[in-house]
Amino acid sequence: MNILLLGSGGREHALSTKLAESPLCKNLYVAPGNAGTKDMATNIPLNVNDFDAVKQQLLALEIDMLVVGPEDPLVNGITDFVKANEAIQHVKVVGPSKAGAALEGSKERAKQFMEQHQIPTAKYKSFNKNEVTEAQAFLDEMQSPYVLKADGLAAGKGVLIIEGKTEAKREIEAMLTENKFGKASEKLVIEEFLSGIELSVFVLTDGKNYLTLPNAKDYKRIGEGDTGLNTGGMGAISPVPFADEAFMKHVDQDIVQPTIRGLAEEKIDYKGFVFIGLMKVGDKAFVIEYNVRMGDPETEVVIPRIQNDLVEVLTCLDEQKLNEVNLKIDERTAATLMLVSGGYPEAYEKGKVITGINSVKDTKVYHAGTKYAENGNLLTNGGRVLALTSFGKDYSEALQKSYASAEKIEFEGKYYRTDLGKDLA
Ligand code: ATP
Repeated sequence: MNILLLGSGGREHALSTKLAESPLCKNLYVAPGNAGTKDMATNIPLNVNDFDAVKQQLLALEIDMLVVGPEDPLVNGITDFVKANEAIQHVKVVGPSKAGAALEGSKERAKQFMEQHQIPTAKYKSFNKNEVTEAQAFLDEMQSPYVLKADGLAAGKGVLIIEGKTEAKREIEAMLTENKFGKASEKLVIEEFLSGIELSVFVLTDGKNYLTLPNAKDYKRIGEGDTGLNTGGMGAISPVPFADEAFMKHVDQDIVQPTIRGLAEEKIDYKGFVFIGLMKVGDKAFVIEYNVRMGDPETEVVIPRIQNDLVEVLTCLDEQKLNEVNLKIDERTAATLMLVSGGYPEAYEKGKVITGINSVKDTKVYHAGTKYAENGNLLTNGGRVLALTSFGKDYSEALQKSYASAEKIEFEGKYYRTDLGKDLA
């Protein structure tokens, strides 16, 4: 089978590593890929949102399966595009239709879906451009801190959590009428603040059946103690030690099952990953968000724990035969540590030479923002540079290995958090 994977991050390096292991995978292509994906796949320069260019590659490379890594092409309707084009509609697509992807593409839509299917989530109301006064008045019904969310995709930056009511009122105006987050904040969701601890649950569904994949917890902020600016993610562990059997049973019954049932009831074509961001408040789980693809860096700990042939599993999506898969999960804990460029998530420099990867043992190094120079040097090419994934009997042992490996790799400005896991002790 010829497979094309879209994306260029650590997520795609982890996915391509796993796809390439399958005897069913004949040729693997990653578009645009990074220096890591080059080891097991052919990188194809491609804008993943240029669907005509994607079509050309699907035809030229005789692709049988298209795996979509990031959210943008899904929200823009790549799955519907493939299925509507006779020449390429035979291609199996891993990723939901546009209607399914709206669960990530619009926070208002996600909240409506949860309300409709009685899925526990924070109380909310949504407002459009003409409802600034109403939105501001709604704050009087809520308690501080106020959670303001731009409706659309805003690269993880569209959520504001604000203590003061006056400031929150000001931000409502900035979002709705001053295009603070561009088109994404033309609509606004205001919701109740949930105080608890976050974790993510991953599901693979064919629209009828589902498999619950390993859960994970990521570390979002740049600074020690989870302080400072939000990032794409500074590390992750899987499984999450506080998500015990009883809690996961509750998540399955009250969140995962109604989600899959809801998709089927609404006749939404959904064949792909569902990433459910949860807040654990006491023993109860509430949905914070849906993402319609795998997370990064969570993929770097979730996928390596799956022992099945991933291509075989993904092949079951099309024929809705996921119920025939017997998932085998590595019982050990996986931890990943992100090495990032100095300055990230604000301005940072690219093009720094990376050394030492070959001296790393007992850790899998997934490339995120990397590329090769013409002289063969490996260079930094993004904010998040490398994800170092290790296994251990528990998260402390796994993290210890990743930290030891982090010291062996050098590039100018290298930064990583040294406190992962400390919040769990
Ligand atoms: P991501 O970067 O994960 O894609 P996003 O921009 O899609 O995020 P959310 O996940 O909805 O937005 O919110 C971002 C973060 O804000 C959450 O991970 C969580 O820490 C915090 N948050 C969101 N909603 C709430 C809430 N109701 N109560 C408390 N914290 C919240």
